[in-house]
Amino acid sequence: MSVGRTAIVTGAASLRGIGRRTGDKLAAEGWALAILDIDGDAAEAAAAEIATRHGVEARGHRCDVTSERDVEQAFAAVETTLPPVGALVNNAGITSPTRFAEVSIGEWERVMRVNVHGSFLATRRAMPGMVARGFGRVVMLSSVSAERGGGVFGGVAYSAAKAALLGFARALAREVGPHGVTVNSVAPGLIDTDITAGKLNPERRARLIAEIPVNRSGTTDDVADVVAFLCRPSTAFVTGATWDINGGSHIH
Ligand code: NAD
Repeated sequence: MSVGRTAIVTGAASLRGIGRRTGDKLAAEGWALAILDIDGDAAEAAAAEIATRHGVEARGHRCDVTSERDVEQAFAAVETTLPPVGALVNNAGITSPTRFAEVSIGEWERVMRVNVHGSFLATRRAMPGMVARGFGRVVMLSSVSAERGGGVFGGVAYSAAKAALLGFARALAREVGPHGVTVNSVAPGLIDTDITAGKLNPERRARLIAEIPVNRSGTTDDVADVVAFLCRPSTAFVTGATWDINGGSHIH
């Protein structure tokens, strides 16, 4: 379907993460794959495993998405080794449950830098090529926290960062739509990964699940399916949209 095109997924090294599963799904649909992650060894291992499983070209690169230099170097490496970049999934992210009164400037900046600044740097680097080739798919990993104001795990800083991505995607979608580039967001609810680093205790988790109409937490597959759909060349008339993947925990 997307033969001859590369999908870049940031933050796709984490073994049980959304990015990893998304990379796997994109490779299954025929994309060549580049994994850009701050954990370079894990990125290479993930790429090797996905390449073997799906028989596609895949590379992993160490890249801190908050560093303009890292992003430039990683994209340059991708461009010399893989087919042209057709999709970018801005998945690298960190969360923070800290209550507002306790959020330090350092924590606020860290959460903004990885989630927002990182998505900006990668998207800015990817966009000229997509526009020149008249094809591109960009997907932002937002969160239900952006829409309902936290209430899952993330607090004010995380909700603000993920809400920034929604405005980013909508405004950029208008600008680049005429060039064949779509920009969409997904807003997952509670998904079983390691992002909460064991800090979501079983009681709180059970309470959260009790409020989810489909009565379970989400899987990385639930998210990866929607992201892969948004990256398909045939998904060309959907842009500036936010896709809720939350089991009904936020219906609006
Ligand atoms: P995860 O912690 O499993 O994976 C995050 C990945 O990002 C890791 O591989 C990590 O090494 C990488 N990363 C962190 N900082 C980075 C940086 N500066 N540069 C490059 N890579 C970096 O997380 P996950 O749960 O798979 O989350 C993926 C995305 O989905 C995040 O943006 C997260 O905010 C979002 N999200 C997750 C959930 C959830 O419940 N898990 C819900 C909504 C949204």
